[in-house]
Amino acid sequence: MNILSRNEICESDRWSDWHWQLSNSIRKIEELEQWVDLTEDERKVIKDSENRFRWQITPYYAALMDKHDSNCPIRLQAIPSRQELMTHANSDVDPVGDMQYRKTNRVVHKYHDRVIMLVTQNCPVYCRHCTRKFHTTEKQQSYFAEGEGSSYDADFEYIAAHPEIRDVLLTGGDPLTYNDRRIEQILARLRDIPHVEIIRIGSRYPVLLPQRITDDFCAMLERYHPVWFSTHFNHPSEITAEAAAACDRLLRAGVPVQNQTVLLKGINDDVETMRALLCRLLEIRVKPYYLYHCDNVSGVSHFMTDIERGNAIMEALTGHISGYAIPRYIVTTKLGKIPLEKSYVTQKDGKIILRSHTGQTMTINALDDVALQAEVLPQHD
Ligand SMILES: *Cc1c(COP(=O)(O)O)cnc(C)c1O
Ligand code: SF4
Repeated sequence: MNILSRNEICESDRWSDWHWQLSNSIRKIEELEQWVDLTEDERKVIKDSENRFRWQITPYYAALMDKHDSNCPIRLQAIPSRQELMTHANSDVDPVGDMQYRKTNRVVHKYHDRVIMLVTQNCPVYCRHCTRKFHTTEKQQSYFAEGEGSSYDADFEYIAAHPEIRDVLLTGGDPLTYNDRRIEQILARLRDIPHVEIIRIGSRYPVLLPQRITDDFCAMLERYHPVWFSTHFNHPSEITAEAAAACDRLLRAGVPVQNQTVLLKGINDDVETMRALLCRLLEIRVKPYYLYHCDNVSGVSHFMTDIERGNAIMEALTGHISGYAIPRYIVTTKLGKIPLEKSYVTQKDGKIILRSHTGQTMTINALDDVALQAEVLPQHD
């Protein structure tokens, strides 16, 4: 097959056409080499991992890569590495227990009033750190008991039979990999169930292929409101003009957009990168929602950081940048999502000790004492 050069791709008049981007996605080493310099070892790693893990990169996302730096945060998220093939202690394909809570082929009912629906296994880019790597990226594996294309009847019947479910989150894989008509069929069937109050869509398309968020798609979503949207920016360099425009189209259609970041070693596990990411998100009017501690998922463990580091980043930002920019720092477990942030309130000898974002403390008898104690405390570093 004839390999298109980087210039031919970037200068194509179809660059903004998401179908064209997907059909010209990078799936071969020779294609990837149009975008980045690979070492002999990197070439070998990609070949070695190919039997087990899928990889694919949209030209749009590849264009964000640093050609010469193999530690580029975009490259680390998209190009297979040797570490994925290593087995780490206590890793598991499903540490959060999604499969334990699966009720039908697609519905995972873990929290009383809300469910996720695993719509697909496919994504525009197979993120190396995917928490559902087993489902999306392992070639021979799937969470689906039946095939991806099987009937949705049992899924909708389950939701209809459970009036406590008021919130349905479409996830995957990436649901936007389907065309608008198919997504609309799913939304329409959910809207036929009276107790479903809100619909959420979890998608990384704004980051990986923002051209997918077309005006037509947004106009379609508008017919099924209230619809919310969760996306997944991990690094400030992902916030491009195209990504900002995609989020803007959703917001103008009345779809609130919020962001879930995964704390990833070597990608965003430092204060400066995280600050830049969170502040840039506010500039494009996207609300940081969760900062996920990286799960010990098989093939993903090398991205894990320790909780102390995560908390140090949270503490360096909380109170120091706009409150809007601060996500909740969460670890997902089989029991649910657990907030990890350290408390700013402790108790000692019947008194309450409050700690401020600058490290100052005040001791009070009860919370209604705060005003009495509000003399200006000396500043210390
Ligand atoms: C994260 C998650 C949800 C949504 O949880 P929120 O805290 O409401 O965002 C629902 N179901 C499952 C299985 C989840 O993992
Ligand atoms: S787009 Fe989402 S579901 Fe797909 S590989 Fe990336 S993180 Fe996983």
